[in-house]
Order: sequence, then C-alpha cells, then structure tokens
Amino acid sequence: MQVATLLEEKGLVEIDGSQGEGGGQMLRTALALSVITQRPLAMHSIRAKRSKPGLMRQHLACVQAAQTISDAKVSPVGAGVTALQFAPATLKAGDYQFPISGAGSAMLVLQTVLPALLMADAPSSVLVSGGTHNPLAPNFHFVERAYAPLVARMGAGLDMRLRRFGFYPAGGGEALASITPAAQGLQPFDLLARGMLEDVAVEAVCAAVPRGVAMREFDELARLTGWDRRAMALLPVSQEEGPGNLLQATLRYAHVTELFWCLGAHGVSSEAVARKLCQALRDYQKKPDAAVCAHLADQLLLLQALAVWQSGQPAAFSCSEATEHLHSNMAVIAQFLPLRMSIETASAPVVRIAPL
Ligand code: ATP
Repeated sequence: MQVATLLEEKGLVEIDGSQGEGGGQMLRTALALSVITQRPLAMHSIRAKRSKPGLMRQHLACVQAAQTISDAKVSPVGAGVTALQFAPATLKAGDYQFPISGAGSAMLVLQTVLPALLMADAPSSVLVSGGTHNPLAPNFHFVERAYAPLVARMGAGLDMRLRRFGFYPAGGGEALASITPAAQGLQPFDLLARGMLEDVAVEAVCAAVPRGVAMREFDELARLTGWDRRAMALLPVSQEEGPGNLLQATLRYAHVTELFWCLGAHGVSSEAVARKLCQALRDYQKKPDAAVCAHLADQLLLLQALAVWQSGQPAAFSCSEATEHLHSNMAVIAQFLPLRMSIETASAPVVRIAPL
C-alpha cells in the first residue's frame, strides 16, 4: 500500500518542524509518538531552523530505526529531505542493531526507539554504534547515570553497557541497551527537588590522547571547584579507541543524578575544557530549587508525558531552565497525546503534566 493511502486512513498528525526550536529533537519525538500511538505522521520543514535544514545522517538513522521497530511505511528519505510521511504498523519488541556510519549520535538514535520499546509487550535489546560521546547530544554516561535511573523510577528497566567509546568526530563507538517494559505500565512521579548532594565523581578519558591532557583538566577543575584532586580518575580505554578526550563530573543527589561533561577538541586548551564543564555545573547549582538540568528536562518530558498518559495520574518536575527544546518538545507531544501541560515560572521552572 502507498504511504499516501495509509495517511488518509487513520488520524494523521501533521507537524510543522519549523515551529519553536526547529531542530532534530522534534522529529525524534514525533517518530516515537507516531510508533506508540500508531498514528501516522506527516512532518514538513524538518530542522528548518538549522544552518543545514532537513535530514542529516543521524536523523536518517532515527527514521530507519523507528521504521524497523514498527514496520512503518515511509516516504522516500535521504540527506537534506525536509518532509516526511511515516505510517507505523505494529510495534515489535526484539533484538535490534542500529549503526550510524561516522560519528552521528548513537544515543539520539537509541532515544528515538526507547520510549516505544519501553511500552512494548516484551523486553528488547538495542545495539547502537557510531558516536557515544558527541557535543550537543547526551553522552553514553549521561544516559546510563542520569536518564536510565528515571526510567527505572517509572517501573521499567534500561541497562546500558558501553562496549567501545566513539568520540566525535571519529565515531566508531558501540553501546548495548537492554530495555525492560514496565510490568504495570509506566508510572509517573513527581521530581520537584534534587535533594542533598551525596557523591561527586570526576572522570576523564584520554583515548589516543596524551594522559597529561586529563591531568591538566583535573588540576583546573580542582582549582575551580575545590574538589579533591586525588579522587579524580582516568577511565581505562583500549588502544583501538579514540582519538578523543572527555572530562565529566557525576553528581549524585538524593533524588536525581546529574552529569556535566565536556569534550576536548583541537585548539581548545585542557583548562578551557575544565572551565566549560564548570560553567554548566554552575548554571545548575545556581538554581538549587531545580531537580533536573536543562538537558535532562527535555528528555524527561517525553517519558513523563507517556507515563501520565498511560496511568492517568499527573506528574510534575522542576528544572534549571525552560529551554526552547523543552517548549518545542511539549508542543509536539501535545499534538499526539491528550494531556494538559504547562510550565510554571518559579525560582526554578516547574513542568506540570496531567491527563485532559
Ligand atoms: P539539530 O542539529 O537539529 O539541533 P539534533 O537532532 O542533533 O539536532 P537537538 O534537537 O538539538 O539535536 O537535540 C539534542 C538533544 O541532546 C536534546 O535532548 C538535548 O537536551 C540533548 N543534549 C545536548 N547537550 C547535552 C548535554 N551536554 N548533556 C546531555 N544532553 C544533551
């Protein structure tokens, strides 16, 4: 059957990809919700607000992954395409492999299929390869330590294994996600405070990069934060990994774990890498009433919305910043799910989600 015919048959959702933030996350959220609700999607002006609009390698991999888990019919896609029709059939749990050549973000491909697989009728595994540590995307450790525990709080399981680092721009990484749907459906929860700081772990990776880079990053981070320099650790890597350099700080609070990180790059000093990480950390710390950081907020929103929709129970969470990503993601979700969503302005923004 032709895609166009399918689109006429069921409740089509039309998304204007140029609204709000106008980037790739709106596509990923729309694909996820199309698979979950079984409603066909027609999206135009995809990534209209980016300097190179339309589908890039990472977004094509996301479309193909969503297609694979749902046997969807998809209009012809390729690099630079700005309009897409996507008509899902049935969501299938399974053991999947989704490679991206080069260093496209493997974590964003995973996050495209994860919400649907969390709602499937059996466990799944997803092997993603490509970039595991990319700028402007969640890195592997962020997904493992900050995002996965929130999935667990909803009654589902997300176990993450890093098999090989893949740093932008070299790529070549690999991670395995084991996904267990919630037995009773996803359960929403309130997350309005981060709680006491219980632990800080600072780590660096130097893959095919001199170890001295990490030593200088540690020195600068210790100077800026006052944290114990001796507790900062270099993570092991194999000779085949890299090149790449990562500096990250994992902050475990009573109610949430946050991870701030920065990648080294040519022409950027180790001290500048430490300063950039410190800036992200301070943006979060100067909002003590916020439970989650700006990035975790836009990623948590979709999970919470699904849990509220499934359970019929409301949820709320506070965040350090209500970004364009958050607003735009909310607008896409509102087109698929019958929810009342709002962002209250307080000392830290509060996102509230309730059934309509
Ligand atoms: P585009 O090129 O269209 O911007 P994209 O598809 O790569 O595309 P975005 O739409 O910007 O990306 O979405 C990026 C996602 O990565 C968002 O969920 C954002 O919160 C997340 N993200 C960005 N930086 C970080 C970070 N440092 N830590 C965790 N998550 C991050």
